[in-house]
Amino acid sequence: MDIYKKYNLKHVINADGKMTILGVSKVSDEVVEAQKQGAQNFFEMGDLLIQTGKYLAHLVNSEDALVVNSASAGIAETIAGIIGQGSHYHVYHPYTDRISKREVILPMGHDVDYGAPVDVMLGVAGAKMVPAGYANMCTPEHLEMQITDQTAAILYIKSHHTVQKSMLTIREAIEVAHHHNLPLVLDAAAEEDLLKYLKLGADVVIYSGAKAIEGPASGVIIGKEKYIRWARMQGAGIGRAMKIGKENIIGLTAAIAKYLQDGSESGESMKARLQPFVENLSEVSGLKVRVVQDAAGRQIYRAEVTPTGDLSAKEICEQLRNGDVAIYAREYRVNEGIIEFDIRAVDDVEMYQIVSSLKKIVGGK
Ligand SMILES: *Cc1c(COP(=O)(O)O)cnc(C)c1O
Repeated sequence: MDIYKKYNLKHVINADGKMTILGVSKVSDEVVEAQKQGAQNFFEMGDLLIQTGKYLAHLVNSEDALVVNSASAGIAETIAGIIGQGSHYHVYHPYTDRISKREVILPMGHDVDYGAPVDVMLGVAGAKMVPAGYANMCTPEHLEMQITDQTAAILYIKSHHTVQKSMLTIREAIEVAHHHNLPLVLDAAAEEDLLKYLKLGADVVIYSGAKAIEGPASGVIIGKEKYIRWARMQGAGIGRAMKIGKENIIGLTAAIAKYLQDGSESGESMKARLQPFVENLSEVSGLKVRVVQDAAGRQIYRAEVTPTGDLSAKEICEQLRNGDVAIYAREYRVNEGIIEFDIRAVDDVEMYQIVSSLKKIVGGK
């Protein structure tokens, strides 16, 4: 059965990296097997969340954990929980006037759109966003001066999407929060280290299941028992609209265990897989090719292609996307005339397809 044909969809090669609009990552057989077991059995659902949470908490040295349906749901449910402080009345009346302490402070440069804006999730949670600092800078003092008796929490977004320049560190944000007895909530949706931030002292850390972890569409929140318990309570309120299925609860749990054991693909392995690809690309006339490391210094290697012919990098990317097979290259640097191919989710057959498409596009005329 070819699902691409059946539903009239385009086959996609994702050489962009981990892109939500393309479905993020491919899930391993091991994780699919766990999803199958989840789908084909019954569980006491409340217990399923509690027990998988305990299991995961043990793996990441956390007090507790909760599997949710996305990092976005993780943000909304965590913040709603902190506003409600365990009140059942609040679960049923999440936007009640009886509770006024709803301010959540975050650096202004962290109010990003990762596919949806951070402040929309805060709105769902019933929080009032209070930006600290300016678009291009935020210091610990900027954060501190926004704290009032209405402050519920401080939110920090750890991401390449945010402004990096003149930005206070996570450690500094934690210090400010704890100095004022406030929880520091960290959105680490796409980050690779599942242990580091709790160790630093963050109270709640939120990950997306389908990014670095390569699990199903899902999320997980880890951290202090109280905040996890309050977030879990939201399942009877706003969280119901963000419910996760049993197949993905089990699937993500298995994916996290596997991820902690195997880690991501090593830089060496990526370089080895890139070599034949780069050799084949070099044989296409009108392309200059080399292997480059990720600009942020991560153990990610990519093929960097500079077209030297008539077509610009931008035009070539457009044609790649519009072909019979939609090939998505990494286009961050097309304005500099550079196309990058990230092969983390690309296999040998697909690399061959990329080369032959490029041959047609560049050598076509
Ligand atoms: C992707 C992302 C999210 C949202 O993750 P979902 O699981 O897709 O909801 C939130 N924050 C940041 C910084 C992200 O990169």
